[in-house]
Amino acid sequence: MKRIIHWFRRDFRITDNSALAAAVAAAGPDGEVIPLYIASDWKGSHEWTGSARQEFLCGSLDSLGKNLEAIGGRLIIRRGDAVTELEKLLEETGATAIFANRDPDPFGRSVEAKLEVLSKERGIEFSLHKDVCIHEQHEVLTGQGTVFRVFTPYSKAWFALPKPAPGAAIKKMSTPSGMVSLPLPQLSDWGLVSSASIPEPGERAARERLKAFLAGPVASYGDQRDLMGVNGTSHLSQDLRFGLISPRQIYAAAKSVEESLSPEGRKSAMKFLAEIVWREFYMQLLWHYPELLEQEFNSTWRGMKWPGLAEVPDAFERWCAGVTGFPIVDAAMRQLSATGWMHNRSRMITAMFLTKDLHLDWRLGEAFFMRSLVDGEIASNNGGWQWSAGTGADAAPYFRIQNPWSQTKRYDPVGAYIREWVPELRNVSNASLMEPPSDGRSIAPGYPLPMLDHSTERDRTLDLFARHKAQSVPR
Ligand SMILES: Cc1cc2nc3c(=O)[nH]c(=O)nc-3n(C[C@H](O)[C@H](O)[C@H](O)COP(=O)(O)OP(=O)(O)OC[C@H]3O[C@@H](n4cnc5c(N)ncnc54)[C@H](O)[C@@H]3O)c2cc1C
Repeated sequence: MKRIIHWFRRDFRITDNSALAAAVAAAGPDGEVIPLYIASDWKGSHEWTGSARQEFLCGSLDSLGKNLEAIGGRLIIRRGDAVTELEKLLEETGATAIFANRDPDPFGRSVEAKLEVLSKERGIEFSLHKDVCIHEQHEVLTGQGTVFRVFTPYSKAWFALPKPAPGAAIKKMSTPSGMVSLPLPQLSDWGLVSSASIPEPGERAARERLKAFLAGPVASYGDQRDLMGVNGTSHLSQDLRFGLISPRQIYAAAKSVEESLSPEGRKSAMKFLAEIVWREFYMQLLWHYPELLEQEFNSTWRGMKWPGLAEVPDAFERWCAGVTGFPIVDAAMRQLSATGWMHNRSRMITAMFLTKDLHLDWRLGEAFFMRSLVDGEIASNNGGWQWSAGTGADAAPYFRIQNPWSQTKRYDPVGAYIREWVPELRNVSNASLMEPPSDGRSIAPGYPLPMLDHSTERDRTLDLFARHKAQSVPR
C-alpha cells in the first residue's frame, strides 16, 4: 500500500489542485494520502507578516480541513521548519513520496532545493507540480528563448499559448488513522490580534466571489476598474494568494462568460484576464531576477538615495496612519488598515505619494504593504512598488508623477471613496476634496492640512532622479 504526503503550501483547495490530484492518483484506490500543513513558528515581529493575512490563512486552513474531512481525509498540522518537519513525518509514517505545488518566490524555491537533497538522501520521491500560474517561468519566452522584461509582448505571447483546462474536485481520500496533529493555527500563536475586517476565507467563499464578479461587474470592468468608489473589480487577490481558487479555474470561467457578452463586455473580460497575466509576469520576473527583492530592476536607479522629507520627520508614520491631509491618500491607507485590502488605483496613488512626494525608499512601503495586505504577494507587491517608484520593469518613467489631486478628480469624481474611508470628510464639499485648501485652513475639524505642496515635491523628485542619473551614467 502506498503512502504519500501532500504538503499544502499556498494551494488550500481540493478542486483543480495539481499536486493533490496527482498524489491521490499515485496512491491509488488502496493507498493513503497525508495532507499536511506546516505552520511557521516565528513569534512576534516579522517585517513582512501581519495579522490580516495570517487571519485569512487560519480561516482558509479551517475550511480546507473541513473539505478534506468531507472526502475522507484529515488535515495534519505541524509547526516549525518545513524540511525538519517533513523529515520527521517521513520517519513516523514510512511515506515514500512528498507531493507539492511549486512556489515561485525565492523563499519557496530555497525550501524546494533542500527537499530535493533530502529526498535523494532518503531515496524517496519528491514530486513538484505547476499550480500557482497558468504558465510558469520557462513557458513564455521571446522568439530567441530569452525572458520578457516588458509586459505587452509577454502578455501577447501568454495569450497565444494553449490553456490547460481545470481539473475536477477530489472525491475520495484516505489518511492513515491515529496520526498526531497539532490544533489548527490561531492568530495568537504568532502573538497577533485581529485588526481588520477581512473577506470570508475558504474555497467556497472564493468560488462565490468569482461567480458574483462574472455575473455582473466583469462586463464593465474596463470602465470601472479604476474607480475607487465602485465595487468594480473581482476581489480575488487573497484567494489567488492562498490558492483557494486556481488561475486555471478563473481563466476557464471568464472565457465561458465572455462568449455571452456584448463586444464591449468581451473587451472588459479580456482586460480582466490581462490582470491575471500581470500576476504571472511579475512572478516570472522574480523567478529569473530574485535580486529584485533587494535592488532596482532598472540598473540606472540602483544605489539611488531617498532623502525623505526633512520638514516632516514623521512623514512615514503619517502615511501609514492615513493622516497626510491628502484625502485620497488617507482614504486609501485607512481602507488598507480597516480591511487588509486596497484598490489597485489607490495602491498606485499611495505608492507614488510615498516615493515621489515623501521621497522615501520604496522598500519601506513594500514592507508596510506586505505586513498589512491580506493578499500580500511578494512578486506583485515588489512589481507594483518598483513600477510606482519608476525603477521597475515597464516602469512609469520617473518623470511621470501622478498628482493626487487630479487622480481624485478622475478616479473618485464624486468623492464616494474618500467619504467612505475618511468619516471626518463626509460633509465636506466635492471641491474641497479635489484641491488643496486655498485659504490655508483645514477642510474639516480634526482633519490635518496637506503635509506638503505636491508641485514643490514633484520638482524635487525630478531633480533627485536627474542628479542620480547624471552621476551614475558616464558621459
Ligand atoms: C504598489 C502595489 C502593490 C501591490 N501589491 C499586491 C500584492 O501584494 N498582492 C496582489 O495580489 N496584488 C498586488 N498589487 C496588484 C493589484 O493592486 C491587486 O492585485 C488588485 O488590486 C487586487 O484586487 P482584485 O482582486 O479586485 O483585482 P482585479 O482587478 O479583479 O484583478 C484580478 C487579479 O489579477 C491580479 N492583478 C490585478 N492587478 C495586478 C497587478 N497590477 N499586478 C499583479 N497582479 C495583478 C490579481 O491576482 C487580481 O486578484 C499591487 C499593486 C501595486 C500598485
